[in-house]
Amino acid sequence: MQIKHVTPVEFDTALIVKHDGSGPRYTSYPTADRFAAGTITQQYLTALHARQIERPNAALSLYVHLPFCDTVCYYCACNKIATKDRGRADVYLDYLEKEITLVRAEFSSQPEVSQLHFGGGTPTFLTNAQMERLLGMLKSAFTFKPDAECSVEIDPRRLNPGALELMAQHGFNRMSIGVQDLDPAVQKAVNRIQPPEVTESVLEQGRKLGYSSINLDLIYGLPKQSVQTMQATLTTVLQWRPERIALYSYAHLPERFMPQRRIDTAEIPAPAEKLAMLKLAVTTLLNAGYVYIGMDHFALPEDELAIALDQGTLQRNFQGYATQADCDLVALGVSSISRIGNVYAQNERDLDAYYAALDQGRLPLAKGLEMSRDDLVRRAVIHDLLCQSEIVIADFEAQWDVDFATYFAPDLEQLQDLEKDGLVAVTAEAIRITPKGRFLARIVAMRFDRYLREARTTAKYSKVI
Ligand code: SF4
Repeated sequence: MQIKHVTPVEFDTALIVKHDGSGPRYTSYPTADRFAAGTITQQYLTALHARQIERPNAALSLYVHLPFCDTVCYYCACNKIATKDRGRADVYLDYLEKEITLVRAEFSSQPEVSQLHFGGGTPTFLTNAQMERLLGMLKSAFTFKPDAECSVEIDPRRLNPGALELMAQHGFNRMSIGVQDLDPAVQKAVNRIQPPEVTESVLEQGRKLGYSSINLDLIYGLPKQSVQTMQATLTTVLQWRPERIALYSYAHLPERFMPQRRIDTAEIPAPAEKLAMLKLAVTTLLNAGYVYIGMDHFALPEDELAIALDQGTLQRNFQGYATQADCDLVALGVSSISRIGNVYAQNERDLDAYYAALDQGRLPLAKGLEMSRDDLVRRAVIHDLLCQSEIVIADFEAQWDVDFATYFAPDLEQLQDLEKDGLVAVTAEAIRITPKGRFLARIVAMRFDRYLREARTTAKYSKVI
């Protein structure tokens, strides 16, 4: 497979250091920290009902959040609950069932699903019987398209025998495996002991069972990590040749994420070492034939994510990059975020509050946001920058009925320093992210984020380095 239409990526250390401010990852725009409480349930229901009139045949995307983990990895910033008690998952499934019933009641006919994702926490915390029950609940409420993309996040350390087979029988065909680093000292420092053979065995089982796109998550910047450990990890990972690799930066924010307080700050690599690891990882992956998709993601040229990038159809959603056109998303479970039409709606983040709402017979929504026209226009700009590395002005103006130069005059002014540094090229025809700018595309996107400009702070966001 030849990738022809993708802007190459050039790793420019000086520019990355200069422009590496904190910033959102734009899995949504507006970002979730802009959501507010209030009338979100009513807005969400109105959007669901409008969808049935305006797009009755459009397929849905489903997300289910499964929050439990056996043990806590010290770097973790996810919304999870550490427990060994599988009984807690039974209770959780009881409540998920209530939520599914409430959501399903808002549809006049059984909705069709083209994408399903189980995230966490650790979805494979569930016993096989619990997994069977959950899938039965979903399948009686929704109709799954025969070619639906069904993906699951896997913790190879705690995979029940037969779990992958069970999910494959139910149509699961994608998986993402948490690895982070293969070095035993790093694994010990982050409380995640996962010998390479364990990861390899899950990967091989997945391939035999027909999981066609397998992603491995890696992290750089963890305690005890170095260029040497990164090199060794990459050498092994490249022998496995997963279809996708996500390479995340570790952001040490112990004041926000309690497990991170158990990390010895003295063992965290210095920024220069972290940058060297990133450079090594990026160049190694590119030299091994992976395509840089954007942000933290790489894929083999034959993977559908790379093909979507090449064909200009790449999407960005709460799971990162995706291939399917902008689907409405129904998200189930504690803290999960739905998007129907112009409405984002987030469930309660706290398990007790989530259960209490369902006990009262109401959707467990806590906050959200109904996008204004300005939000939608800016969301399209940020999407085009992060998914296509360019905005073609005439096309954008025709689609959104705006005079680009006038509408975005203050934003374009803010691009000037990035243009001077060669991260972005601005002409009357297009705004194009350059090869040097691709790695910093979110910095370019931030210049179009109205909320960020008004809030004047980026303190709570993560950095690249
Ligand atoms: S990284 Fe994954 S397995 Fe580890 S604590 Fe976080 S959610 Fe659980």
